Formats: sequence, structure tokens, C-alpha cells
Amino acid sequence: MNQPVHGEENPFEAMQARFDLAAAKLGLEPNLLQILRTCEREIKISIPVVMDDGSVTVFEGYRVQHSTARGPAKGGIRYAPNVNSDEVRALAAWMTWKCAVVNVPFGGGKGGVICDPFKMSKGELERVTRRYVAGIMDILGPDRDVPAPDMGTDGQVMAWLMDTYSMHQRAYLPAIVTGKPIGLGGSLGRIEATGRGVMIVTRQALDHLGMKPGDCSAAIQGAGNVGLISALQLSKLGVKVVAISDIHGGLYNKNGLDLEAIQKHLQKTRKLEGFDGGERVSNTQILELPVDILVPAATENVITSRNAANIKAKVITEGANGPVTAGADKILDQKGIFVIPDILANAGGVTVSYFEWVQDRMAFFWTQKEVEDRMEHIMVESFAAVVDMARRFQVSNRIAAYMLGVNRVAEVTRMRGIYA
Ligand code: GLU
Repeated sequence: MNQPVHGEENPFEAMQARFDLAAAKLGLEPNLLQILRTCEREIKISIPVVMDDGSVTVFEGYRVQHSTARGPAKGGIRYAPNVNSDEVRALAAWMTWKCAVVNVPFGGGKGGVICDPFKMSKGELERVTRRYVAGIMDILGPDRDVPAPDMGTDGQVMAWLMDTYSMHQRAYLPAIVTGKPIGLGGSLGRIEATGRGVMIVTRQALDHLGMKPGDCSAAIQGAGNVGLISALQLSKLGVKVVAISDIHGGLYNKNGLDLEAIQKHLQKTRKLEGFDGGERVSNTQILELPVDILVPAATENVITSRNAANIKAKVITEGANGPVTAGADKILDQKGIFVIPDILANAGGVTVSYFEWVQDRMAFFWTQKEVEDRMEHIMVESFAAVVDMARRFQVSNRIAAYMLGVNRVAEVTRMRGIYA
């Protein structure tokens, strides 16, 4: 297993640092603090897979359920070389708070497999997925734990998950997973949901700050499902998107990027490299560009106490989970930057996952407009609730979002009591 990092860059410690601040502000009783600070259940498995050349590779996989107090555990499955147990724990806890912030009836979970999906064939990915699902099946279920896509996984991986689970249960069970293809019980609007949610909360923030989208520029770190769609959606709103990056680096054009051409280029080559329409910038530089809006939509720990002072944006919308460390929080606060925290900013994805699960259980499907209108309503209300909490308690938006989420989980935990 990859060695977990310690200190500022350990995502679970980063989660706990914010949780502790929120719990203190809420005056949470010590017993509840102990319960909510830790994960309910963790599984680690070995996944032996016959590779295309006939050799066997044993991968390592995790599924962590942080909380099932408010509903089945909910959260994605990540395929990446740097997956580790503390990262999965943090991501699981963030799902708990995120679902509570937008008030959808789920707890929080997350899974991961240490592998490099970009270096594996489709057959190898299918075999890893099916064996991983078989290994964690006992704790999954539409009423127990409902996975979804995350970094390195997509609708096809969710289709294999649904098929493996359904075959074992001898039943058609689409509600076991969200983010599926439409034909298998997926929801219209799920693919673009996270990026659309990023746009909605950014629009609400600009309005709150008295800024006009048409006068604003934006830089987006990440060109995957979240980054690219956030960029397209912000540009539809009238924001000038001047920079975008992928794992190899970014493109910057102060006059604005041609995002549709970039989208076509990405569909063809799967990387930004080779697209000329801007100057090359690194993934560090993109964060420090002179823009109004910054959307870190790639991975954790990109804004730390080392570079936070160099950020020039007035608004940061966290498309990724955990892009800002707890050490950087203080610096961004001092600079007066309006941060829309991950557990609110990227919650559009899980909100539409909830709609997908509801539709699967009813076997009755909604129009795109119904999905979009309901999602819009939830995101707008949740943004207002977080900003209101921040004002009332004189805390940052991040701590306000944690307070909102933690309080909702604490309330049901008190009601349920401790089963002994
Ligand atoms: N992986 C996404 C997230 O981090 C979506 C999770 C879901 O839809 O369950 O929010």
C-alpha cells in the first residue's frame, strides 16, 4: 500500500481539523464527537486479476463507510495509483457532510483501487471491477451502500458493477449504483451535474458579492468530467474562461479560450497537449493567474500553506474534493477570498445521484428539465443556508458548511441513540 502522508497533506487529518472546529462551534457533546470523527466500517481487499498477457497482478482495493446515520452510505469509487486508506477515509467522511449539507437522505462512503486505469485495457478494467465488487459485495446494497463514479471510473465501470451485483442477487437491481448509462437506469443530467452545480453556486456567490458574470474571468484546474463541464457551464453564464489544465499542464489565453474546440480536441486525443489557442502554463501557475474565479477541479492538496498567499482570485469554487488544505484555509480567509467549499460546491453530482436512485426505485424516469430544476433548487437553497450560517456564527464558508452538515448528522444520531 502507498504510505499515507502526514500533516498538512493527510486528507483525513485535514477533514478532522475542520470537523473539530465545526464541532466546537456547535458545542457538540464529547460522545457524539467521538462517534462522528471516525469511520463506521472499512474493508480492504486483495484483487487478483489475470492481465492480458496471462500474468496475474494483485491489486489492493478499499471501501469505507464513514456514516450510515442518515441513510445508505453514498460515494464514488476511485481508480488511481495514489489511492491510500487515509484518502479513502477522508473522501468517505466528506461524502457524509456533503449529503447532509444538501440534505439528501444518504450517509457517506468511498471506495478505491490502487491501479492506473490509463495503462489498463478495457478487459483488465472489467476484470478488476467485477472482482472488486465481488470482494466488497456483502456491505453493498441499495439500502446499504450505493457507489458512483469518481476519479478514473465512469459509466461503463458502473454498468459492470450493476451487472456483477445483479447477477449475484439474481435480480435486476439498478439502484445499487448511480452514474450508470441511461439505458441501464441512469438519470438524465447526471454526467453534467457536478459541473452544473459548480456553475450554480459560483453564480450565487457572484450575485452575493455584487459581481457580474460578464465582467469575470476564470481559471479551471482539471479538464475531466468536473473541470471541463464547469468551464463550459461558466462560459454559458457569460464568464470568460481564460485557462484550463489537465494532469500534464494547462493552457492560458487572456482573451478567453475556445472551449468547444478544446472539448473536441479532448474527445479525440484525451489530452490538452497539441491544442494551440493559448500559451502553456503549469498546474502550479494556473492557480496563481490574475483571474476573478478559480475552480480547482482536479485533486486534493493543490492549494497549501506554501502557495495560498499567491492566489489572486476573489472566488474559489472547489470542484474537486479537498483541493485546499487546512493550513491554506487561514491564509485564504485573511486575504478575504470567498471560498465555496467542496462539500457544497461539488454536491450537484451526488444530488443527481440521489435523483437517479429515487428514479430507479420507482422505475419511473424524469425529464432533463425535471432533474435540472430540482437540482437548481437544492443547490440555491444549500448555498443560502451555508452563507447564512457563516454570517450568524462569524465563521468561514467552509466551517459553516461543516456546521450545517455535522449538525444534521448529529441530530439523527442523537435520535437513534446508541444500540447496545
Ligand atoms: N464522486 C462524486 C463525489 O465525490 C459523486 C458521488 C456520488 O454521486 O455518489 O461527490
